[in-house]
Amino acid sequence: MRKYMEKTTNPCHVIICNKCGKKIDKKDGLQKEEVFHGEVRWGYFSNKDGETHTFDLCEACYDEWIRSFQIPVEIKEETELL
Ligand SMILES: [Zn+2]
Repeated sequence: MRKYMEKTTNPCHVIICNKCGKKIDKKDGLQKEEVFHGEVRWGYFSNKDGETHTFDLCEACYDEWIRSFQIPVEIKEETELL
């Protein structure tokens, strides 16, 4: 979940983990923690035709979520960080 605040000329936004409610602050354009952002647009063959669902998960909740998978996530290591 993303909240946008435009109080000043420097808009900051706050990301809130949808699962545990933890706030991930963004200060001076820098996000202090990585989050998982999910977005899916459900189509005709779903029961949610035309709906777009978005959510954010903190790293702890993401880890918990993927641990429940039958098949583990594919992990690729970046050889070069930008
Ligand atoms: Zn969380």
